[in-house]
Amino acid sequence: MGLQTVCFDTKPYDLPGLTKYGEEAGVSFRFLETKLNAHTAALAEECGAKAVCIFVNDRADRAAIDRLCSAGVKLIALRCAGVNNVDMAYAEGKISVIRVPGYSPHAVAEHAMGMLLSSVRHLHKAYARTRDFNFSLRGLTGIELYGKTVGVVGTGRIGRVFAELCRGFGMRVLAYDKFPDPASGLCYVPLEQLLAESDVISLHCPLTEDTRHLIGRESISTMKPGVVLLNTSRGALVDTAALLEGIKSRRIGAACMDVYEEEADVFFEDRSDDILQDDTLARLLSMPNVLVTSHQAFLTREALDTIARETCFGIRRFFEGEKEKMRGTS
Ligand code: NAD
Repeated sequence: MGLQTVCFDTKPYDLPGLTKYGEEAGVSFRFLETKLNAHTAALAEECGAKAVCIFVNDRADRAAIDRLCSAGVKLIALRCAGVNNVDMAYAEGKISVIRVPGYSPHAVAEHAMGMLLSSVRHLHKAYARTRDFNFSLRGLTGIELYGKTVGVVGTGRIGRVFAELCRGFGMRVLAYDKFPDPASGLCYVPLEQLLAESDVISLHCPLTEDTRHLIGRESISTMKPGVVLLNTSRGALVDTAALLEGIKSRRIGAACMDVYEEEADVFFEDRSDDILQDDTLARLLSMPNVLVTSHQAFLTREALDTIARETCFGIRRFFEGEKEKMRGTS
């Protein structure tokens, strides 16, 4: 029996990679569909797990961490890049946390570009229209990206690839980062300038206390009228109520969202037979200039393979390190 690991919020697309690399790395998974939270953390104990593997909408808050620790779990392995769903400060010294930081910046950046192109050329509408034998072009006039200004907020792995893609389209790229990298060759400007000058704004920074509602009523009021807002990072970077107002007032010309503040109970699931209880999401979906995908930007074959491999070998390396420490102290 390998390193016992409970995998929460497992989806069918997780199984092949985690099974394959789990066998290679000596990690035995118990796959659960349920998400991790303070109540379900007890399942780790039932399985005698030393590690749990979680995704973006599992919640490792204080109570969940306490339960995991008392169950003898030593490691939380995130099979994603962001750690905003783990109380990292509380975990410090109690339980170790690993993640997969750079599995495929191209997956997310290309999805952001795909959403942008769909939005500005109305491809999603054209697709639905021609399937209904409606070949009219009425309302499908687009805008060109060439010569437009794009503001990239967060210039880490994904932001940089997205900036490169935009350059390929002949766009002027402005960048903002709390920790700018002078070697990146990017044109860094203050956030206020980026917001005021950009025709397209794309968010690629992590969700932290600093960045929660980075895009809100005040920042939206300073944006260029008709701006296209892209969020493929984390939902709570955007204050959704302010976004709705911004779209209604036409300050925001279009919004492309792969993530949503309240996505946890809705995204990744088939809710087509349900009455959607989230009126804000329903309102957003009713708008012709809003494109929503269900936290799908990471979902490529290449990224899934890397995520599974890095996760499994990360778990193995962690427990090898623990063994070394034990040897060192004995
Ligand atoms: P990264 O760590 O390489 O880059 C993040 C950048 O944001 C860094 O340059 C950092 O300095 C900057 N930053 C930090 N705080 C900031 C602030 N207050 N204001 C402006 N910039 C700030 O991360 P990455 O791999 O490029 O991923 C970016 C984000 O994309 C992740 O945090 C994650 O939330 C999101 N993501 C989404 C998906 C998806 O499927 N939609 C997949 C992977 C990652």
